[in-house]
Amino acid sequence: MAAQMTDAHRRFLQVLMSNGITEGSEARKIHQHCCETDKVYYAHDKLDDFISTINSHLQPLFMQIRKGLSEDDGRAHYAVVNLAETEVTKMASDYTEIELELFRKTMDLIILSENGFASSTDILNLADQFKTKKMKKKEAEQVLKVFVEDKWLSEKNGEYTLHTRCIIEMEQYILSNYQDVARKCNICHSLAIQSQVCESCGIGMHLPCVRKYFRAQAEPRCPKCNEFWSCDIPGMSRMGSQTHHRTPFLALDDASKT
Ligand SMILES: [Zn+2]
Ligand SMILES: [Zn+2]
Repeated sequence: MAAQMTDAHRRFLQVLMSNGITEGSEARKIHQHCCETDKVYYAHDKLDDFISTINSHLQPLFMQIRKGLSEDDGRAHYAVVNLAETEVTKMASDYTEIELELFRKTMDLIILSENGFASSTDILNLADQFKTKKMKKKEAEQVLKVFVEDKWLSEKNGEYTLHTRCIIEMEQYILSNYQDVARKCNICHSLAIQSQVCESCGIGMHLPCVRKYFRAQAEPRCPKCNEFWSCDIPGMSRMGSQTHHRTPFLALDDASKT
């Protein structure tokens, strides 16, 4: 059943591995490029089949190309995941023990937070309390910067969250290690770090999923318990009349428009 792995497949895999994470439209371009370069049958709508061929051959190696959605804008991304390494140890070859400790602590803060963000102040304060060896604030700041460059964390105005790459690669690890706190999105059923949470029943939804789900509804109600959805719906400004007018319960997210 498994289709033949061609040079185009191998080339595609290589590019994805060296990218770390690849955005969907970029993956489609690479798909086309690889097929044309190696003169292999190409159809623009067959990327998923192309990837599942690669995945069937990666299976014995406990590896897989996985697709995940960005928690910011809901766009698809691809990353090559090593299923055998279910720990943060998949980062072990690239970072020192103390850097990994900072990463684990940061991940704790992010996952245990309400909204999926940890402030740099909170992270830097943690670095002060390491058991083995203390980390200076300057040093910790530098390491955080590297985690952002390497696409394990992403940062917005001094607040850190997990990068899409990290979520795709570590979803299983996070779900099993943070069983009581990690939540899955009620809409797309994948791990939700940045999410809105229902005040009455506690389900969570990604922001892009919230946006999509409530788009068609006159009044936002929780898909599970049907209570009024009290969080601000992101990107609902198109419903309101022009600029400064805010409806009482749909606060317009002006910042997201700029
Ligand atoms: Zn979702
Ligand atoms: Zn609810």
